[in-house]
Amino acid sequence: MTFFDQESLTTPKLSAADAETLVRERYGVDGVAEELGSQQDANFRIVSPAGTFVLKVSNPAFTAEDLDAQDRAAVHVARSGILAPSPVPGLDGRTVQPVELPGLSTVARLVTYLEGASLSTSRYLAPPVVAALGDLAGRTSRALATFDGPLPHRDLQWDLRHAHDVVTRLAEFAPRPDTVREAARAAAGALAPFADRLPLQAVHGDLTADNVIAAVGDDGRRHPAGVIDFGDLMRSWAIAELAVTCSSLLPYGDPAVLLPAIRAFDQVRPVSDDELAALWPLVVLRAASLMVSGRHQANIDRANRYAAKNLDEEWRIFEAATAVPIEVMTELVRSAVRPPAARPVAAGRPLFGPCDPVDLSAISPLLHNGRFLDVEDQLTTGMAYVPFLQPRLTRTRLNSPLQPATAGLGVEVFGAGPLEIRAPWPGTVEVHDDAVALRGEQTLWLSGPVRPAGDVVQAGDVLCRVDAGSVRIQVTRLESRPPFFVTPAMAGAWAHVCPDPTPLIGRAPDVTEAPGLLRRRGSAFAPVQEHYYAEPPRIERGWRQHLFDVGGRAYLDMVNNVTILGHGHPRLADAVERQWRTLNTNSRFHYEAVVEFSERLAALLPEPLDTVFLVNSGTEADDLALRLAWANTGRRDVLTVREAYHGWSDATDAVSTSVADNPNALATRPAWVHPLAAPNTFRGEYRGAEAGRYAEDAVAYIRGMDRPPAAFLAEPFYGNAGGMALPDGYLAAVYDAVRGAGGLCIADEVQVGYGRLGEHFWGFEQQGVVPDVVTVAKAMGNGHPLGAVITTKAIAEGYRGQGYFFSSAGGSPVSCAAGLTVLDVLRDEGLQENARVVGAHLRQRLLELAERHPIIGAVHGLGLYIGVELVRDRETLEPAAAETAAICERMRELGVVMQPTSDRLCVLKVKPPLGITTADADFFADTLDHVLTEGW
Ligand code: PMP
Repeated sequence: MTFFDQESLTTPKLSAADAETLVRERYGVDGVAEELGSQQDANFRIVSPAGTFVLKVSNPAFTAEDLDAQDRAAVHVARSGILAPSPVPGLDGRTVQPVELPGLSTVARLVTYLEGASLSTSRYLAPPVVAALGDLAGRTSRALATFDGPLPHRDLQWDLRHAHDVVTRLAEFAPRPDTVREAARAAAGALAPFADRLPLQAVHGDLTADNVIAAVGDDGRRHPAGVIDFGDLMRSWAIAELAVTCSSLLPYGDPAVLLPAIRAFDQVRPVSDDELAALWPLVVLRAASLMVSGRHQANIDRANRYAAKNLDEEWRIFEAATAVPIEVMTELVRSAVRPPAARPVAAGRPLFGPCDPVDLSAISPLLHNGRFLDVEDQLTTGMAYVPFLQPRLTRTRLNSPLQPATAGLGVEVFGAGPLEIRAPWPGTVEVHDDAVALRGEQTLWLSGPVRPAGDVVQAGDVLCRVDAGSVRIQVTRLESRPPFFVTPAMAGAWAHVCPDPTPLIGRAPDVTEAPGLLRRRGSAFAPVQEHYYAEPPRIERGWRQHLFDVGGRAYLDMVNNVTILGHGHPRLADAVERQWRTLNTNSRFHYEAVVEFSERLAALLPEPLDTVFLVNSGTEADDLALRLAWANTGRRDVLTVREAYHGWSDATDAVSTSVADNPNALATRPAWVHPLAAPNTFRGEYRGAEAGRYAEDAVAYIRGMDRPPAAFLAEPFYGNAGGMALPDGYLAAVYDAVRGAGGLCIADEVQVGYGRLGEHFWGFEQQGVVPDVVTVAKAMGNGHPLGAVITTKAIAEGYRGQGYFFSSAGGSPVSCAAGLTVLDVLRDEGLQENARVVGAHLRQRLLELAERHPIIGAVHGLGLYIGVELVRDRETLEPAAAETAAICERMRELGVVMQPTSDRLCVLKVKPPLGITTADADFFADTLDHVLTEGW
């Protein structure tokens, strides 16, 4: 029997009760049946004391031999280490049992049930998950290559060798039959040159996300675990296995999402050049045949809910498979596993005289001060062209989850006209609404205000005229008109069918590409200085609260607590430039800036903190603060709290207890360091009403010290633990005890000070205390290396015993100019107040998310220092660390920079530039909501 003899397959009709009877009588299994969907069979899950099984009552089109072959193939695949269902023998020893239904003789089988839901229930598949699916398909293909059992001897509807026939025959059931027929014809045409050379073997034939069972991994992602449903087992082209898998990935985003699957497949089962060329045509044929078959099946079997439910999805897969021309997709696929091909370049007579290039890329100086947000053609004067494929920052989109189409598949000439454009080759002229096309061996598209001069032209004839405006020049070997802008991820593949037209404007093509930057970083820059993200975007521009990669993709920067004013602030850049041009020297010279800055800093602090040291970083500030304590008290011992970070120098590293920064931190503290319990009110020893006991314990410890302390050093708002307020009264009690013992109280305001908390300029204000020494850095310079220690005159004088203090660049005129400007902008732009208002809104939004997403254990913080702590269980508070890392990766894909913090790396550290708007805060909250809803 072949599919073509019996197009109209109806599913066998039996009830759950019938299924229960069947498994009891034939297999001795006493279970409860629940119907599972199937296109052509009747499947039931059977839950019984003996285990969980799947009963498959087959469509009569399948013979007992076919089903036996499927079982053997599943067993063969399982032997290679892949989880697959195994057949259960009946009471009579046979795995395949004949079944008589009213008007229908067929067969049934019972197979073991694989725990877990199918991968297709995930609404998002992360790149490693896509890769794992490709790997599973590759391993299945490799296993089936050695399957020597019999294979069904039928022409299966799903054998892609017949897909063109299937589509031709059933296209009438599709919404747009002609489109579907044409797509299948084009795919079959593209496949034809290779079809006879493609190797054949046993294939699963339906290795889709639907037929892959997923298990939840440590990171909370659902990872492929096993393969089910060998019902389409057949002999076919080996590469069809991958084509089917790829087409099932199409609903998950733009076609580039499936590249990790192709790479992973190729690694376990190398794909030949012929197979690479055949892959996309087969994806199109699969998508088309699946879609027409679904429509056809729904038409003849209106009661089959499973078939009907999938129709929209199948149409979307078909649209996605055909959205980009086959040639382009083939090049995209090829470039995933082969070195990039040389890009074609258009040749012909120049259209007009040469003009100069204009740089609209992320690094272009033309785009400083946010000018990339202006209208493009106002950025240039005279006639100038934007180079081929240059990703334009001008086409970025702020707060967008989508990759912007920034790369021009041609050159664009601004300020053209009055101009005569001459034909580069002979051809016929086609006039469109917004363009003129010259059809020759390839097609030249000129779009813009062009007025055509004739119908047929020779090379060198006037083709059209431009009075004024900008013109886009594009060449293609395709019949259809390509888009002018594409995403950088797709640009290389499109360039394969759109030759570089630069020679047509009398210029040489631009071939400046610098691949391997990350590798170079790894070899020249000590790798212990880690980078964010597994595959970091290359960030080359910042503007206010956004960062931009070289592809022109914008990311909302929610992590840069250093850059309180935002990126690229013109006032800061101007002030620093002006000072560099005037004077930069060191603070042993006498100049105004160091005086003014010191006075301004001291004025921000309460009495008696009136004396300033200027250094270059938080580490230096904390190191100096410790030296001041040692010098003033003549003691060595220092109290610190756990889960804290204060710097990398010998002294500050010694008092840094965070195991996230140094896993051995607690075991390697020198004897003079006394870490107190982390006053973590969320997950520490004392929570809620008991939180006061942290201070009691600390005071008792201080009173019991053999050697009295030189100092107590802590963040006054618990930044490194995730932006938590310390328990009420904690610092007052501890400061009292420390002072009572003759020690100094140092507040590390490096992260939390300078207005970030909104309600307060300094973190210590929240605790109602005044420290003896305050350290500041980070925000002070908005990224310019700047740090300060502010203390009393007497304590500052105490340093004398150590000699004098000098830091070459600390307090330099340029550093002071930067520091003063930061303070001016902070005041003039009302950033502390903005932190209060927008921070409160953001916190509220995040608290609302916590009501819907159980993974959010708590929302800590104040102003724009917020910590979203993620837990696996709200009772045990098990940290969701792997999930937090994965969620940050996903947020980056959606255009948000976010990173984990805390000792358990399970807190999203939300500490953006202080100028973010309510819309930015909403974009962040919406993105987090999206990720927590759809998965990561
Ligand atoms: N103290 C705290 C609280 C910090 O968070 C940091 C940096 N993360 C430092 C000190 C050290 O600052 P820097 O990196 O400027 O040396």
